[in-house]
Amino acid sequence: MKLEKVLIANRGEIALRVLRACRQLGLATVAVHSTADRDLMHVKLADESICIGPPAPKDSYLNIPSIIAAAESSGASAIHPGYGFLSESADFAEMVEKSGFIFIGPTADTIRLMGDKVSAKKAMQKAGVPCVPGSAGALGDDINENKKLASKIGYPIIIKAAGGGGGRGMRVVRKEEDLEQSIALTKREADMFFNNPSVYMEKFLENPRHIEFQILSDGQGHAVYLGERDCSMQRRNQKVLEEAPAPFITAEQRKTIGSRCAKACVDIGYRGAGTFEFLYENGEFYFIEMNTRVQVEHPVTEMITGVDIVREMISVCAGNTLSVKQSDIKIQGHAFECRINAEDPKTFIPSPGTISWLHVPGGPGVRWDSHVYQGYKVPPYYDSLVGKLIVHDDTRELARLRMLEALDELVLEGIKTNIPLHKDLLTDPAEIRGGASIHYLEKKLEEQSEKTAEVKSK
Ligand code: ADP
Repeated sequence: MKLEKVLIANRGEIALRVLRACRQLGLATVAVHSTADRDLMHVKLADESICIGPPAPKDSYLNIPSIIAAAESSGASAIHPGYGFLSESADFAEMVEKSGFIFIGPTADTIRLMGDKVSAKKAMQKAGVPCVPGSAGALGDDINENKKLASKIGYPIIIKAAGGGGGRGMRVVRKEEDLEQSIALTKREADMFFNNPSVYMEKFLENPRHIEFQILSDGQGHAVYLGERDCSMQRRNQKVLEEAPAPFITAEQRKTIGSRCAKACVDIGYRGAGTFEFLYENGEFYFIEMNTRVQVEHPVTEMITGVDIVREMISVCAGNTLSVKQSDIKIQGHAFECRINAEDPKTFIPSPGTISWLHVPGGPGVRWDSHVYQGYKVPPYYDSLVGKLIVHDDTRELARLRMLEALDELVLEGIKTNIPLHKDLLTDPAEIRGGASIHYLEKKLEEQSEKTAEVKSK
């Protein structure tokens, strides 16, 4: 089918990002939205818009029949799933393709393969991507075998659900006495949350960094890697601040790991944009999972490579080959992204409401990816991301200073935001140095709340 009109099955900033890419490619756009989202910027800008249901995601953005019906009635030729919602649902991708539309992402089979962490790890091992040492597949019921395996890997280990996601379905085990019960509990949870009781075992890395590689692949034998991002600054497994390239990663490491990821994409016939997530400790990379979609933090990679990831993923899913070769990809300078959330910067309680005043920073190397505008009402039903502030400069230090300046200029009134948290983080010695572990932010926040409690009790 020829790609002419794209239905955007998402909301917020990513829906607007996709709309912009479609416009540039000369494609018509259809926005689908819940009753709470009539005023979204991309709904106003799209060529057509269709209301697909009430605010609750299960009734609208996760409602597959409604979305397919909207595609049929609008005459769309393709569906872009964005991130979150149905973007990694193999069933959705299958339904989209069976109904005669192009799914802007990999095939349902690929999503299924990579969505099951056990099969994903096997495929990656086969392709030569380094993985966390662990069980060869799902754990069996023989506790003695499992004990043997755990002591061979060496404690602490982590039990993880094969179908897990969103940081759920994992349990760290530090000693043999706890193994049996931990496996049983994780299995039960996995069955309850992911409808798949199968679990596997991995070495638990105590202080890793989160480093991920961005790839683009056309499913026709070509794939490129666009370098890596460091997303170690996390709170409750949610990324807060991202950067590219990752501090202290050498060009040689980038090439070794990146080219293996690209090769793995060719091997599995991957189509679209994808991310290989790794934990990085003591100079070694360990694959943990692949995200088969565009990610929130893709702009930092766009800033250092000049490649438009969203435009390219649409283009390859329309049947074109990649427009870039590996030799075209040059990493230039450094980029940071701050996720600006409508939330209390100390308690993290969401802060929906009307944005009474908005001033967006500018100048060279400053980018603001956001759907909000003055007078826009942030609804309480969805995640609290109101915008992404992205900066680029020649060096990491210049980019950091540029971000601080941009954060100073950014004004969002009427709602609480985490701008103060970002300012604090970007002046933290560990962040200035770079290379902090995934536990750093959580520990810092704990220390701060202990101090506040101390002051209060005095
Ligand atoms: P999800 O799909 O739920 O995000 P991941 O496999 O990506 O699950 O893991 C989420 C997070 O859990 C990681 O970013 C890391 O913080 C932690 N984690 C997962 N596996 C390990 C491991 N083997 N050692 C240490 N931490 C881990």
